Amino acid sequence: MPDELLRAVGLDGRVRAVAASTTRTVERLRVIHDPSPTVTAALGRAATAALLLAASLEKVTRREPMVTLEIDGNGPAGRLLATASPAGWVRATVGNPLAEASLRKDGKLHVAGVVGDDGSFIVTRDPGIGEPYRGVVKLVSGEIAKDLAHYLTESEQTPAAAALGVFVVPEGRVRHAGGYIVQLLGGVSDAEAAELAESVTRLGTVTTRMREGQGPEGWLEQLFPGGFQIVGQGPVCFRCGCSRDRVERAVKLLGENEVRSLLEESLVNPVTLTCGFCKTAYSVARDDLARLLLEVETESKDLRKA
Ligand SMILES: [Zn+2]
Repeated sequence: MPDELLRAVGLDGRVRAVAASTTRTVERLRVIHDPSPTVTAALGRAATAALLLAASLEKVTRREPMVTLEIDGNGPAGRLLATASPAGWVRATVGNPLAEASLRKDGKLHVAGVVGDDGSFIVTRDPGIGEPYRGVVKLVSGEIAKDLAHYLTESEQTPAAAALGVFVVPEGRVRHAGGYIVQLLGGVSDAEAAELAESVTRLGTVTTRMREGQGPEGWLEQLFPGGFQIVGQGPVCFRCGCSRDRVERAVKLLGENEVRSLLEESLVNPVTLTCGFCKTAYSVARDDLARLLLEVETESKDLRKA
């Protein structure tokens, strides 16, 4: 089944839910980064979380809105970074893909063991117009789903529940991945909230449900036994969006000295710059580096004049 994302409302619009299956997308991330099984799970959960967060953005200009999730924990995996758009694209990367942690007592991958349990959970929403806004909360578990629910509750002031799962088979491939968020928008009684919490518990882990053949729509049916309305539905896939142009702009951001040393290096060895998200290698010719250096020098002179 192809990956998909559903946006829904329940309880007459007082509860919002987003649910996504991301198996193929997370498998693609695994092939690109070749991470350990536990980092595969961490990367997949972060990418799924970014997609769920991005789903609430609306495209208002020609520029695609984006959500960037950054998880900066004290674990051996280092920083996790995932960027997603409401169109269903996501890309992600991690500081140390080969970090590993021993299994938890219940035999499951110990995601907090590679992410860490102390640090920051940072969400930047770029609506495609005006300034991006940034919300930061402290990590509360490092397992990512709890951190996501904590972020929504604290930073966005909407009580929320979240589930994220990535099931990795012993050879390392991703067999199932997905997740959902449920947000109480207001006017939900304590009894209704308690019922919803019970449904969340009853639903259990999404990868178990996926093993039984149930996808995002089935999870929503279990979450809202009284019915729900689908308000949006679309495919999900990996997409980086890098280009030679963007890579050159990134090189210029390194500054004059760095560009000069790349140019010097190009006299000895060919210079290639690799995108951290998709591993595409861009070879940069000496002439291009000379042009970039000239541009950086001119721009910094203009800056001094201004
Ligand atoms: Zn790329």
